[in-house]
Amino acid sequence: MDSLFIDGEWVTPADRERIPVLNPATEEVIGSIVDADASDAAAAFAAARKALPGWRALPVGERAAYLDALADAFRDRGEELARLATAEIGMPLAESRGVQAALPEQVLRSTAQAARDLAWEYQDASGSTVIREPVGVVLGITPWNFPVHQLVAKLAPALAAGCTIVLKPAELTPLNALFLADLCAAIGLPPGVVNLVTGRGSTTGETLVQSEAYDLVSFTGSLGIGRHIGEVAGRRIVRATLELGGKSPAVVMSDADLAAAVQTTVKNCFTNAGQKCNAPTRLIVPEARREEAMQIAAAAAASYRLGDPLDDDTTMGPLASEVQREKVLSYVAGARARGARVHGGGAAGFDRGYFVEPAIITDVAESDPVVQEEIFGPVLVLLGHHGEDDAIRLANDSPYGLSAEVWTADPAAARRLAEGIQAGQVRINGVRSPNPPIAPFGGYKASGLGRELGSFGLEEYLEVKAVLGSFEPVEED
Ligand code: NAP
Ligand code: MG
Repeated sequence: MDSLFIDGEWVTPADRERIPVLNPATEEVIGSIVDADASDAAAAFAAARKALPGWRALPVGERAAYLDALADAFRDRGEELARLATAEIGMPLAESRGVQAALPEQVLRSTAQAARDLAWEYQDASGSTVIREPVGVVLGITPWNFPVHQLVAKLAPALAAGCTIVLKPAELTPLNALFLADLCAAIGLPPGVVNLVTGRGSTTGETLVQSEAYDLVSFTGSLGIGRHIGEVAGRRIVRATLELGGKSPAVVMSDADLAAAVQTTVKNCFTNAGQKCNAPTRLIVPEARREEAMQIAAAAAASYRLGDPLDDDTTMGPLASEVQREKVLSYVAGARARGARVHGGGAAGFDRGYFVEPAIITDVAESDPVVQEEIFGPVLVLLGHHGEDDAIRLANDSPYGLSAEVWTADPAAARRLAEGIQAGQVRINGVRSPNPPIAPFGGYKASGLGRELGSFGLEEYLEVKAVLGSFEPVEED
């Protein structure tokens, strides 16, 4: 702990500020990290730059084998990782096992396979040779809500592509990132291929972003910081991939099973206490059935058991921080003050921990902040539509376009809705996440630029070179 992982070594700069890491369920300090400075950032980038030629020269199969070895480490030590992530983020342990251990393991394996399957070099119809090359040194900056997954969703494709990487995890959840760096060392990854620098976004993060030492920045987080990073990258003309927020709709048509649609949407919305960028936070049902939907959603919300995220009976943990809890409570209070009908949404009456009761909100204007803005907490807004066109209009009435869910018994309607809604992913009738996790993930509109996972995720870390003419020796006559 309180070390940085640079050039294959743990370094512990003595004179940097330490930042405490809290358990959001107990408010206890569970560790501390270094607030890394510009010299640490420079050392990390230098290590990544030095490691780049050797790493990119490895045959792709060897790079893929390292990812598989890291996946094996996730399998073997997944329980530790899940518990550590739960301690940092407060996610119920069963959810952590899936999202922080099993999912990253699958992402590592499927990305290794995508790299083996990629056409790294081919001749096109003009006879030109098209070659894929790694972009270079990557800066990866990640948020706290699915911390392990978000790190791996950058590390895996970067390494598979032949890039080296400097990672900056969220200040709230750095311990799992340190654990990940340990696993990278344990599998014998060459020094400098993966480097980890901890610290605050406003200090360490900003220093890293302003550096001229990276060739691509991959960011997951909020719209505001994403816009800033995109501007900095734009000035330098380096590529930025941005995975930003969402306000995803779940559209239910009159021929769908309303109870199943509402209950599943509540469940998907309240995963990780609603701190999920692709959470379906706007439930859009036929107006004539909105009252019935409200009753079903309120009953589903009332059935959540808040408490210790390590307890098997707990279905909702705390929010990640006090700041996050206050933000969520103020959104709910604001909607109530503007005349909305709210079920739940109060602070849970525990002595400790940043708990908020899940909330269902209806009778609210389409322009209301709780309908338009990303809350990032257990808050589901219920709206009524007047038929398919109106449902699509409402679904698209958002600055975001990350994900959408549609519920209908009519396959033709499902296609029209999937085509009409502007979102990077559309899920039909509650389909679960695919395994392997290779479906492209990313946003339309303000939800971002670029895609993660599978072959599309890999592409983000590759340059394309066209070689015109022949590599054959010129024949003499
Ligand atoms: P955030 O404040 O944007 O932070 C994301 C990361 O950027 C953190 O590591 C943060 O460090 C760092 N950062 C902050 N300011 C920075 C700066 N000036 N320069 C460089 N880095 C900086 O977001 P968050 O509050 O951690 O996470 C919640 C947000 O992320 C939500 O809006 C959510 O929708 C979005 N999100 C999107 C996706 C997706 O895939 N589309 C996934 C998850 C989350 P600190 O932690 O130290 O502030
Ligand atoms: Mg932040």
